[in-house]
Amino acid sequence: SKENGRGQFSFFSIDMNCKVAVQRQMTEGMRNSLAAGEFYLEYQPRFDARGRHIRSAEALVRWAHPERGRISPAEFIPLAEQNGLIVPLGDWIMRTACETATHWHGIGVSVNVSPVQFRDADFVQKVRDCLEETGLEPSLLELEVTEGILLEDADRAISLLKELKKVGVTLAMDDFGTGYSSLSYLRNFPFDVIKIDRSFVSDLDRKESARPIVQAILGLGRALGISVTAEGVETNEQLAILTADHCNEVQGFLLARPLRAEQVAELLQEMPEL
Ligand code: C2E
Ligand code: CA
Ligand code: CA
Ligand code: CA
Repeated sequence: SKENGRGQFSFFSIDMNCKVAVQRQMTEGMRNSLAAGEFYLEYQPRFDARGRHIRSAEALVRWAHPERGRISPAEFIPLAEQNGLIVPLGDWIMRTACETATHWHGIGVSVNVSPVQFRDADFVQKVRDCLEETGLEPSLLELEVTEGILLEDADRAISLLKELKKVGVTLAMDDFGTGYSSLSYLRNFPFDVIKIDRSFVSDLDRKESARPIVQAILGLGRALGISVTAEGVETNEQLAILTADHCNEVQGFLLARPLRAEQVAELLQEMPEL
């Protein structure tokens, strides 16, 4: 613990100790919850923008804490990245998502991959094992990564992405446009999909400058042969603009919220044959 010069604890260090204690408690809680099966997945459908058919669904992890109720992944994922639990949690997420998607008959599943999982020396082998053991067709698994994977060791990240590509999975760059070097990453990495960050989409019916930016990203995708998904679509106006500008796929509360696996299966049954 931190003491100031006169041997007293400062407010700062008390505060820090408190935060550390809370985090330690949460780490312990996560470990137990993982063993107790208190994590579960929801799946948010992704639709092709023109026909509005479900193409795939994104797995989003949820923590049903016995005392604290539902905790947001925005809160516990960063902690899991710090304490390393994201590795076993991420393994469980990928396996569960692949297993679930085997019941969807050709509809893909996307999984968010943390930079920490990417650092795991076994990651590519785990992906292979997961596909082999669940029997899911590799192209139906999409891995969503952010530019965070490239910040530490870009060369290693490139070679991992290339290995993953050989395995046959689909690679998506998530939160496109929010980082510092999205463009240079596109030059160097073989992504199949770009996901336009929600902040650009929500600006579409608020800011004049938003549409030309989105159009530029769509043009880039077209020129490079990369499919573009817009995330966080909440209004009909946003959807109309994205469709008019030939966005490939759309995802957002307007079309579907994150759903339990059974609900996705029901939706798929109602869907007309393609
Ligand atoms: P993300 O990957 O960008 O996921 C999209 C987030 O936006 C999800 O929040 C989703 O529920 C939310 N969303 C979708 N459509 C709309 C919309 O129309 N409006 C608004 N306002 N929000 C929308 P969620 O599930 O709370 O996840 C937050 C973040 O936590 C994710 O951002 C991702 O970075 C992380 N995360 C979630 N699940 C996982 C996971 O399984 N593994 C890892 N590594 N990270 C995850
Ligand atoms: Ca994502
Ligand atoms: Ca995103
Ligand atoms: Ca995000």
